[in-house]
Amino acid sequence: MAVVCASIQGVWTRLSGTAENLSASERMGLPGHCRLCRAWGIGAWCAACDARFRSAAHRCVRCALVLPANDPAAPAPRVCGPCLRRPPPWSVAVCAEDYAFPWDRLIADLKFHDQPEVAQPLAERLAQAVRDALETSDAALPELLVPVPLSARRLRERGYNQAWELARRLGAALGIGADAQLLLRPVDTAHQATLPRAERERNLRGAFMVDPARRSAVDGRRIALVDDVMTTGATLREATLELLRAGAAEVQVWAIARTA
Ligand SMILES: [Zn+2]
Ligand SMILES: [Zn+2]
Repeated sequence: MAVVCASIQGVWTRLSGTAENLSASERMGLPGHCRLCRAWGIGAWCAACDARFRSAAHRCVRCALVLPANDPAAPAPRVCGPCLRRPPPWSVAVCAEDYAFPWDRLIADLKFHDQPEVAQPLAERLAQAVRDALETSDAALPELLVPVPLSARRLRERGYNQAWELARRLGAALGIGADAQLLLRPVDTAHQATLPRAERERNLRGAFMVDPARRSAVDGRRIALVDDVMTTGATLREATLELLRAGAAEVQVWAIARTA
């Protein structure tokens, strides 16, 4: 498996940074307490919690927002009205769950509580959502996974990039290469969450750059950008536009959770 990880992201990745080196316990799920209800079982959370919290919502294939429920006998509309009127720059958006309990808590553990190992069950959940979404759309699996990069300062603070922790495990689950070196974030922008919606796109302008020495690795490729949460989509939009400018044939965006 072609997994490339020699970048600064790889340097700061706490684990080895290659899909082949995931620990056996990460791959198989060992007995332990469910992270959500503390019941004893196999894996990060128990089967009962999985059945309780796993979403079966139909999502727009372009923006991953939940589509309104309609007549179960009628074919579900696959694209929402706003996406028909103003299509996003990516071809497909896949989000596994709503950004709500318990997914918000698990993502916080991954991102802010120094628990990169939570990436494994979350990546498995997203891999399943990707398989389901691509089965019902015309899209094919991409050839390459690219994590949304952190700035060097943010990476130093956190010690690892949660999007890379997800992307390399998704790559292992789906048999796709993952590369944390292609897309760089040379500018340390303000936290998107601190900004009003209208200012988020402006804040990100020029935030991402395909490594000039690696443009041939992007040219003509079908790529999926991986992030933990998709909010307004401003970050993913800016990163997508940069990959398309560098010649990517197609960009999909994948995230664990979608805010409403
Ligand atoms: Zn449980
Ligand atoms: Zn939509």
